[in-house]
This record gives sequence, structure tokens and C-alpha cells, in this order.
Amino acid sequence: MHIHIFWDTLSPFGLQAPVKRNISAIIGMPVTVSDNPVRIMGYVDGRKQIDAQVLLDSIHAFKRFNDVEEPLLLVVRQDLFKNGNSFVFGLARESIGAAVVSTARLSNEYYDRPGDDDDLIDRITKEGAHEILHLLGLGHCTNPECVMFKPDTLDELDRKKKMLCPACHDQVPENPSLE
Ligand SMILES: [Zn+2]
Ligand SMILES: [Zn+2]
Repeated sequence: MHIHIFWDTLSPFGLQAPVKRNISAIIGMPVTVSDNPVRIMGYVDGRKQIDAQVLLDSIHAFKRFNDVEEPLLLVVRQDLFKNGNSFVFGLARESIGAAVVSTARLSNEYYDRPGDDDDLIDRITKEGAHEILHLLGLGHCTNPECVMFKPDTLDELDRKKKMLCPACHDQVPENPSLE
């Protein structure tokens, strides 16, 4: 098994390779990254955000139509929300093996700090790995340094390390292709 990452055209360009490498190292599985073919749906004009649930529906439709069974993460630039939350960094739906992450609130520029590609790569890595691991069955973790900790703020995201705590690491399913 391997994991697909789809990189939308508006997402920060040139970061695909390091993000892919980092995520693969965290989850211990091969990862492929390619240009996003999924239709971006769910944009709400009044909020200038995308409804993450609608976008997951769009990924679901793509996966069914193209017989994609492996877990799939879509990286978009547009800000995401879901019903009941003013924003989300990302969202995963395990039942369809699909997840989405937004880079909107992961850049220093969003917080009026000087831009830094390494910061952005680290944050997309942690958020991306977090959502993919939900697709592999992992839940949230109370260890604030673990990738599976649920961050509510950028500082909480930055406090996490690019790795799983031992307890979460033990829950990652064995990769069938490596057996
Ligand atoms: Zn989560
Ligand atoms: Zn953990």
C-alpha cells in the first residue's frame, strides 16, 4: 500500500518533495505526490472559505470514479471550515479514506511574521501526517509533542515534533507491501 498526496495548483509550489519525504518517514510507508485532479468544491463566497466536508465529498467522487482505494490527502491553499468550527487546519474522513489540509493558516505571513519555507514544510508535514494517520485508524493523542495531538493554534502545531510518540507508533498498521 502507498499513500497518495494530491497537490492543488494554488498550494505553495516547490514544497512537494520535502513534504512527501517527511510524511513518508513519519508514517513508515511510501508516499506519492502528484498534481491535483480533483475538482475543488465547497467554496462559500461570504466566508471566503471552503466547506471541508463538501471538498471531502468531491474527493470521494473522484476516488470512486477512478477506483482509487489507497488513502488520499489533498493539499489546498484555500482556508477550510466545517460546520461548528470557524476554521480547521485539516479534516479526515476515515470511511472514505480521504483527507484534506489547508496551507492558508500554516504560513508565517498569515500571522504577519516573515515567511519561511522550512516552517511551512514542517507544518504541512505535521498536519498532513496527522490527517493520513486518522485514515489509518489512529485517534488523537494527549502527548503535546506527538503528531497525533490535536492543535488548536499555530503554537501548538509548532510544539509538536515530526514524529509519533511510542504508543501511537505501535498503532500504525503494518504496511502490507513491506511484509
Ligand atoms: Zn485530528
Ligand atoms: Zn501519540
